[in-house]
Amino acid sequence: MTALLHERVSAAARRWPAAIAIVMRDRRVTYHQLDDASTRLARTLREAGCRDGDRVGLLLPKSIDAIVAMLGVLKARALYVPIDVQNPAPRAARIVDACRPRVILAAASAAPLLAELRAVSPFAAEARVGWLGVPPPAEAQAAGFTQDDVDAQSAAPLSISGEPEARAHILFTSGSTGLPKGVVINHASVAAFLDWALPHFGYQPGDRVSGHAPLHFDLSTFDIYGALSAGAELHLVPPELNLLPGKLARFIRERELVQWFSVPSVMNYMARMDAVRPGDFQALRRVLWCGEVLPTPALIHWMERLPHASFTNLYGPTEATIASSYYRVSGVPSDPAANIPIGKPCGGERLFVLDAEKRPLPPGEIGDLYIAGAGLAAGYWEDAEKTAAAFVPAVDGNGLMYRTGDLAKLREDGEVVFVGRADTQIKSRGYRIELGEIEAALGAIDALQEYAVVAVDRDSFEGATVCCAYAAKPGRELPAAELRTLLSARLPAYMLPTRWAALDGLPKNGNGKIDRRRLQDEVFAT
Ligand code: AMP
Repeated sequence: MTALLHERVSAAARRWPAAIAIVMRDRRVTYHQLDDASTRLARTLREAGCRDGDRVGLLLPKSIDAIVAMLGVLKARALYVPIDVQNPAPRAARIVDACRPRVILAAASAAPLLAELRAVSPFAAEARVGWLGVPPPAEAQAAGFTQDDVDAQSAAPLSISGEPEARAHILFTSGSTGLPKGVVINHASVAAFLDWALPHFGYQPGDRVSGHAPLHFDLSTFDIYGALSAGAELHLVPPELNLLPGKLARFIRERELVQWFSVPSVMNYMARMDAVRPGDFQALRRVLWCGEVLPTPALIHWMERLPHASFTNLYGPTEATIASSYYRVSGVPSDPAANIPIGKPCGGERLFVLDAEKRPLPPGEIGDLYIAGAGLAAGYWEDAEKTAAAFVPAVDGNGLMYRTGDLAKLREDGEVVFVGRADTQIKSRGYRIELGEIEAALGAIDALQEYAVVAVDRDSFEGATVCCAYAAKPGRELPAAELRTLLSARLPAYMLPTRWAALDGLPKNGNGKIDRRRLQDEVFAT
């Protein structure tokens, strides 16, 4: 089967034209409509000057239009760059300046963000703008095209000569220096995962699968291309349901979902709020999670109530595309303290647990986890140095392997167990956050004398709690609420610390460095 993702979706549209492809709130599209709409957009993008390998920024909330946009960009042989519309303009500007999009596709609701972006970013100001859906008022419209222009195009398939573009999209994740890192994903890496996952999980046409992850998250790639190449129905979960476990449960129940796939914090929250009833979700056949550790008590809660479903832990970083290993939990764990393995490599992937000299470690010994195989990203966008540091020659002599920054150990039976991080990257509510990115944003605040951000693992549904200790410059008043407001102009809400400590000075260790351990163990202990 072709490795090109949009061609897989078009192939599904030829087989099941009248089948429902995507449902979001009260809107739905068939495969035929999706295929036509994305072709029209591809034609418009080419007319707007988009060429092979150009980037197209997406300033679109989670919606059917956003997925039409992704497919349209791929058909135009460009790369899409989803930009979280919750980002404050300065952070979105760093992404836009890094990828220099030819076109930005925007929804009317993102018009204020786009206007701010265009004021601070020359590349945003230069990009042509395509308004999808209902356009904003004329005075808010930047030069470009609207949905009417797209709808006026022919839906006849585009034919463009030359080799198709290998790269599909760029996903920006938190970067420790304050600059988001762009992971460049090839069509073939996603296709390789699908070639393993669809038969493995037994996808069937008409299956109703969840689309829980935000569309700028790697996990959503599985939701989208998994469902849409199998003739399944993708049910996008409205983001406002996220903090409402009862409503999420109702969504699974009423949509009669066959598959639920989310980050563990959501499943944990639902378990804690007792949102899953015994024998609930009768249509549900599989529950998958990825992105962080699912606390075993939450897993037990789900498994006890849903004996009819299978439960699989997926593990993998964005840099290795969706997931690299899996572990199907065969029975309800008897011990709530049991550590559920991240398991064995998915088809086409290899996992290595290595010591500091990159020698394989025997079972039981903790080392660095590396991934090699078909899912490996093409590297970091225009950053040869970071790419070379993270993607190194594989120990088995076969291509490259990615240093995940995760610590792991092998079990005697060959299953890999996740132990923790070797650095200060954390997960909070499923979001990947480099504490260094928060510190870099604090560094720009003049009133601060010193500051440190640490994560504290508390027994809460959100995972790690992000804590900020700071001391203001002598004579400067800086209440935490004010600091939070200053920071929120630079960082998305999910990166904002939730605990604060205003100190006269930060504790130091013997080397005179900020003693982060003491901050964790004493200042933020309770
Ligand atoms: P992301 O790039 O957002 O997918 O984050 C990747 C990181 O999330 C990995 O390097 C791990 O630290 C963590 N992670 C992903 N999946 C799992 C899992 N199943 N169990 C534990 N940690 C995970």
